[in-house]
Formats: sequence, structure tokens, C-alpha cells
Amino acid sequence: MQINFYYVFYSFLHVISFILDYFRPRLESTEDKDPNCCGSSTLVVNHDSSTLDAKRDTRDPCTLGDNVQDEEYFRSYADVTIHEEMLRDAVRTNAYRYAILKNYESIRGKVVVDVGAGTGILSIFCVHAGAKHVYAIEASEMAKQTRKIVEENKMADRITVVNKKVEDASLPVKADVIVSEWMGYNLLYESMLQSVLHARDKWLKKDGLMFPSSAELVIAPFTDEDLDLRRAIEFSYFDRLEIWNEMKQSYKVSMESMREYAKHCISNNVHVRCLSPENIISHGVPVCKLDLYKVNQNDLKCIKKEFEFVCFGSSHLHGFVTWFTVSFPGDIQLSTSPYVE
Ligand code: SAH
Repeated sequence: MQINFYYVFYSFLHVISFILDYFRPRLESTEDKDPNCCGSSTLVVNHDSSTLDAKRDTRDPCTLGDNVQDEEYFRSYADVTIHEEMLRDAVRTNAYRYAILKNYESIRGKVVVDVGAGTGILSIFCVHAGAKHVYAIEASEMAKQTRKIVEENKMADRITVVNKKVEDASLPVKADVIVSEWMGYNLLYESMLQSVLHARDKWLKKDGLMFPSSAELVIAPFTDEDLDLRRAIEFSYFDRLEIWNEMKQSYKVSMESMREYAKHCISNNVHVRCLSPENIISHGVPVCKLDLYKVNQNDLKCIKKEFEFVCFGSSHLHGFVTWFTVSFPGDIQLSTSPYVE
């Protein structure tokens, strides 16, 4: 699943879709050391290239906790590009801002932990909402800039920037609120949610609040008459399999045994494209619903779902699209659904 992820972005406004290799009857998304874990299915399609991050996917869930992977992951977050993209995504950033400000009564005078603070934007929103103190935890080198931004906003007495991994940090007090923007491709791909749950279990007070507090990932079949997309799929699938049959003719060397392996590798290819409601040919089915007060690390190790769709009419099935919605206290939502403007 590492492929292309460095270069593709998605917008919260839009849909993230992924095309399973055509013949897979059910979606299995696993995040374990299981060898199948990295083989989850495939072609991500999405609307425009506005936002979230390209490199949020550089951390392979299969090797989470691995220091080398973590270093690479946090190095990517030390770069300005991803933060620029996230902040340019006004839908994303304003959803958090609105959720934080609208819940000011729950935040005013309270201690907040911002898990993965980045530039510190969410921490600053929390101070705007009246937070007594915010611990802005950021593992990457971006934390040095975060400190400057905090000073620039004259909030050094209200925001403490902790330049550590959440897993290694210790705080002097418990938190009333945990805020974090942890979502990645397919909701969970970045695997940052595990760190948020770690923070929750370590610091959140008994009746504390999570921002966001729940998340849902939905899957639906789609059709897309866009020729480019079809060519991309057909090329990346059928033509690329065919080459292993042609080796004998080309070089007098048989490599048909590569077909199965190639099938496995190719099905991991990811493409990011735009889809609209007209492309969706059945009602979406939830892949998972996560209550962020209750879900634990074990629940995330393996998420399996069998699904069945009844299509609206007759059209070509080109793949499956996924989208997600996260909800904040006060019934505020942020969604990548194609149905949400
Ligand atoms: N909150 C910011 C940044 C979100 S991106 C915003 O909304 O704009 C996620 C950030 O979390 C990245 O900067 C990344 O370096 C950081 N991060 C991810 N996992 C972390 C962990 N375990 N400990 C500390 N920081 C982490």
C-alpha cells in the first residue's frame, strides 16, 4: 500500500474511493503483522488533489512502532508542504475550528491535549475557545516552528509544545479534552489513531471529551465512464498480468508463475480520482463505526466486513469507493462523502 501514496492527496470535500481488485468478494482491512496485512485492496480514486497529506501514508501499518519507519514518517511531517496543504484545506480546518469554538463551554477553563499538533493550529483554536492550558504534542521537527507560532500568537503561557512522540511524552496533569486530526486514506491507513488512543488511555479524565468522538468508514460500488480511469484500470491490471505470459515469446524464458504474484502486487496500486453521486450505484455500507471513547488498539488490528450491495440499476461496475465521516461533540461532522457538498 506504500505505492503512489507519497504523491496523492485528497480533499475532505470529496470522496476517496478505491477499486478492489475486481474479483475480491469482501473487503479485509488489517493492521497487524499478518503477511496479508499489506495486501489490502486497491485502487484509490478521488476527487481533486486539494488536501490532506501525501505522506500521511508513509507509515506502513505493518511496521508501526518500528523506529526506522517512524523516523521516515516524522521526517515527512517536518516538511512545510504537508502542513501547507492541510491548512489550505479550508473545509478540514474550518470543521475543526467550528467544532472547537461551538463547544467552547466544554473547553473554556479546561486542559486540552492536542495529539499531533503540527503547526499548532488546533491548539490555538482551543485557546480561542478559552482553554486553560493546551499541551501540543508534536513528534516531528515541525515542533520548533510550532513554538514560534505559539509565541507569535502570544500564547506561550497557554500552550506548551512537547516535541516528543505521544508514546514517549509525559504530562503533569490529566486532560479534559483530546483533540487530534488523525485521519488518513481510507480513514485508518495512516495508523495515527493508535497514538490518539494511547493518549486517551494515558491522559483523558473519566468524563473527558474526544474531538472527534466517532468515525465511520463507508464503502459502495461505483461506475465511471471516464475513459482515462478505465484505461488506467485496464492497463494496470490486465496488460500488466499479460506480460508474464509473453516472456516466453520475447526471451524464450517462461515466467507464467509470476502471474499470481503480480496479481497480488498490482491489486495494491492506488489511483486517486474524483467521484460524484452519479457514480455511486448502490447505497453505501459501513465498513466500520468507531466510538472513539471505547475503541481500543486491538479492535483496530483487524477490521473485516462482508458486504452485499443491491445496485440501483444496470451499469458497469468499475470498483468500490470508500468515504468517511468523523463526528464531533455537538453533532458537527466532517465528511469525504460524495453526497456532502
Ligand atoms: N493538528 C495539525 C497536524 C495534523 S497532521 C493540523 O490539524 O493541521 C498529524 C501530525 O501528527 C503530524 O504533524 C505528525 O508529525 C504528528 N504525529 C503523528 N503521530 C504522532 C505521535 N505518535 N506523536 C506525536 N506526534 C504525532
